[in-house]
Amino acid sequence: MAYDFDLFVIGAGSGGVRAARFAAGFGAKVAVAESRYLGGTCVNVGCVPKKLLVYGAHFADDFEQASGFGWSLEDAQFDWGQLIANKNREIERLNGIYRNLLLNSGVTLLEGHARLTGAHEVEVDGQRYSAEHILIATGGWPQIPDIPGKELAISSNEAFYLKDLPKRVLVVGGGYIAVEFAGIFQGLGAKTSLLYRGDLFLRGFDGAVREHLKDELEKRGMDLQFNTEIRSIEKQADGSLKATLNDGRELIADCVFYATGRRPMLDNLGLENTGVELDSRGFIRVDELFQTTDPWILAIGDVIGRVQLTPVALAEGMAVVRRLFKPEQYRKVDYQNIPTAVFSQPPIGTVGLSEEQAREQGYEVSIFESRFRPMKLTLTECQERTLMKLVVDAKTDRVLGCHMVGPEAGEIIQGLGIALKAGATKQQFDETIGVHPTAAEEFVTMRTSVR
Ligand code: FAD
Ligand code: NDP
Repeated sequence: MAYDFDLFVIGAGSGGVRAARFAAGFGAKVAVAESRYLGGTCVNVGCVPKKLLVYGAHFADDFEQASGFGWSLEDAQFDWGQLIANKNREIERLNGIYRNLLLNSGVTLLEGHARLTGAHEVEVDGQRYSAEHILIATGGWPQIPDIPGKELAISSNEAFYLKDLPKRVLVVGGGYIAVEFAGIFQGLGAKTSLLYRGDLFLRGFDGAVREHLKDELEKRGMDLQFNTEIRSIEKQADGSLKATLNDGRELIADCVFYATGRRPMLDNLGLENTGVELDSRGFIRVDELFQTTDPWILAIGDVIGRVQLTPVALAEGMAVVRRLFKPEQYRKVDYQNIPTAVFSQPPIGTVGLSEEQAREQGYEVSIFESRFRPMKLTLTECQERTLMKLVVDAKTDRVLGCHMVGPEAGEIIQGLGIALKAGATKQQFDETIGVHPTAAEEFVTMRTSVR
């Protein structure tokens, strides 16, 4: 049967754009439908604007530290409206780049909501299209628990477009977004509390990293409240918000920001017209080839709920289109040793196993740790400390995990990701000559195991 397209991609986000462009480049006839914004979450309400706000917040530290180096500044003033307007202009520029990338690679771009209507069939704005393969890359959406007053809370989607910087913010959650936005609000001058339901935030990260970040955030004056949940939110006569906690305490704020995870975006997608099944957490179930239970329908990225990171969505998109249209270049996605950063202040960089994961997996481990005051801070009052940690397999000497909390952690961990992928041993780390004077050289000079 002749189809309108070889591949129909639903969602022009990180994974969808990558898959569509490369499939077209491999000679396939491709369409992509996008209902909201080109570039998806990462470009519009995720990685990119978040990192711009993190840069913005960091200037507070820079100004404070400048005097140690002889600089004196007039009273620094911050204008939230200016930052958001500049950020919006940059996002529009990127939207244009994504449009050109798609059009220049010969992809048919359909700007509208796509709905699966039957086998090999998609409808966009009342028009039906047929395709041999359909790729669902519809991403995720913030999820706020069902509590009285939840409509008064905001998520990251709205935070990027707030008219004013709130003076008092309650951030709820203990994952990437909560920790990053708490740092943004605090850095820009808001009185910030972070409320997390468990004992310590960033579950799944190395224990020393979590403790170290907690100490650093407390030094900065952030109010951290663990084992705490909000029971209800009410608007007060003066417009402020009153959050009642599970222990009966009441907190007053101008903004309650929830970052309690993201659900798959399946709204009005028409899955009921297909045989596509969901897994126990509600994400689209796929096999190792990213095929759903209807094998001509594939799914990648946040909507399958494996690792919700842009580079992972890109890798999954590449794997799908190489297998379909360039099989000689096909490689499976390797989910081991994915380097990642949390852009907190100070940031976290991590790759490989945490000490806890390594022990759970039965490794006998040697732990190397270093804590120090970064050189840049020695002329300043700032008491921030950096943590670096290596988890090593005591039997084979292979480095199982590298973890860092400190300036440029994300930049540093990327290179260590290559070392771990190559299976580097601690001896090879030791034999690598350091770059002096840097913080990163500490990763190749830790000689004595602490445990
Ligand atoms: P998305 O990028 O979400 O794209 C899905 C697209 O599909 C959207 O454009 C949507 O409008 C469209 N769509 C949905 N339904 C339909 C439909 N029916 N018809 C047509 N179009 C549809 N990751 C990192 O690696 N580093 C970071 O620093 C980072 N920071 C983040 C910060 C925040 C605040 C958030 C929310 C996420 C962050 N992420 C980060 C995660 C990253 O953004 C996602 O993992 C990534 O965008 C997932 O890509 P995707 O292709 O699966 O989906
Ligand atoms: P995460 O899954 O990272 O964290 C969700 C947090 O909310 C956890 O601390 C979780 O607690 C808590 N939580 C979940 N449900 C509830 C509830 N009902 N009540 C109270 N707390 C709750 O999600 P995020 O929203 O922070 O981010 C989504 C994903 O986006 C991340 O996992 C990450 O993959 C990606 N991302 C990546 C970034 C980066 O690379 N720098 C930055 C931002 C996002 P518990 O741990 O107890 O379950």
